[in-house]
Amino acid sequence: MEQYKLLTPGPLTTTNTVKEEMLFDRCTWDQDYKDITQKIRMQLLDLANASPEDYTTVLMQGSGTFTVESVMTTAMNKKDKALIITNGTYGERIVQMADYTGLHYKHYNVAYNAYPDEMELKYILEHDSTITHLVMVHCETTTGILNPVEIVSKLAKEYHKTLIIDAMSSFGGIEMDIPDLGIDYLISSANKCIQGVPGFGFVIAKLDKLQACEGNAASLSLDLYDQWKTMNQDGKWRYTSPTHVVAAFSKAIDELIAEGGIPARSRRYQRNNMQLREGLEKLGFRAYIKGKRQSPIITTFLFPDDKFAFEDFYHYVKERGFVLYPGKLTEINTFRIGNIGEVYEEDIERLCNVIQEYMGVVVK
Ligand SMILES: *Cc1c(COP(=O)(O)O)cnc(C)c1O
Repeated sequence: MEQYKLLTPGPLTTTNTVKEEMLFDRCTWDQDYKDITQKIRMQLLDLANASPEDYTTVLMQGSGTFTVESVMTTAMNKKDKALIITNGTYGERIVQMADYTGLHYKHYNVAYNAYPDEMELKYILEHDSTITHLVMVHCETTTGILNPVEIVSKLAKEYHKTLIIDAMSSFGGIEMDIPDLGIDYLISSANKCIQGVPGFGFVIAKLDKLQACEGNAASLSLDLYDQWKTMNQDGKWRYTSPTHVVAAFSKAIDELIAEGGIPARSRRYQRNNMQLREGLEKLGFRAYIKGKRQSPIITTFLFPDDKFAFEDFYHYVKERGFVLYPGKLTEINTFRIGNIGEVYEEDIERLCNVIQEYMGVVVK
């Protein structure tokens, strides 16, 4: 089979050594396996710069969305009210979850290329004291915008609100001091910047906050508190866990640490992203998100002209070794290129050459 690099923001291209971990069948009840789970949990705390006195971690089966839903429905009870801040479809998915599960919320939304306004958020918090939780996506993978987590962090501290951050596509790839930001629940998953394969999500949670959540969940399988209680004893998951995925993830974390941890990985992603944007700009493509708001994770590009046929472009590039990602904006024609995973300078260079060939542009 022809291998290609996934320039999608998860699943992404992983190393062969990560994939090889999945050649071994493991038993969920076995101590060796439970030890892997405990090791991962400790390493995640380290990566989060969090101490085990204040923070804990929980792994949850399913894709990232399952973990977000488990946090929303466990961290909140029926009397609580969330202020959900959105500028993209992943934020909107949290609103949808709240509707499905009957959580109280206020939806504050801004344009997909805009930041939430601090004064407006302040105004909302001043005028609605029933709000208990602030919820926001860190890197909105819809567009690649990197949201100002320090603004909501400041407000959460000032108004004593529980802070939930969907850092699915940023944790591991962007430096973040979780205790300093006062994040109570940070959510990510196996197949994003840690560079594992899909199958579970994880939560880095403020211990005292999670401990107070017993009985909140209305779903047994998504009860984050119950999952934590079982897992925290000796690394045993409730119900069947994705054993192959967990083993691969353990390897992926070791490789992240060997690369130099989050600072080194973040630098690689930033270089990839810069090179990608500069390269495509030369070929006539403009990025949708401007300047410092752009994350080093994924970039949304506008179609260069009305004649641009994305399907044709997609297949041309795929045949030459790269899978891109369609756009997710309703009003503007866009496509996206992720630069996380086993992706290096030479890959981006090769990609830019392929795109140049397709466009028939002569670059001086
Ligand atoms: C990937 C991602 C998710 C989870 O998506 P799944 O398809 O359920 O894994 C949630 N939020 C953001 C910002 C993401 O990038």
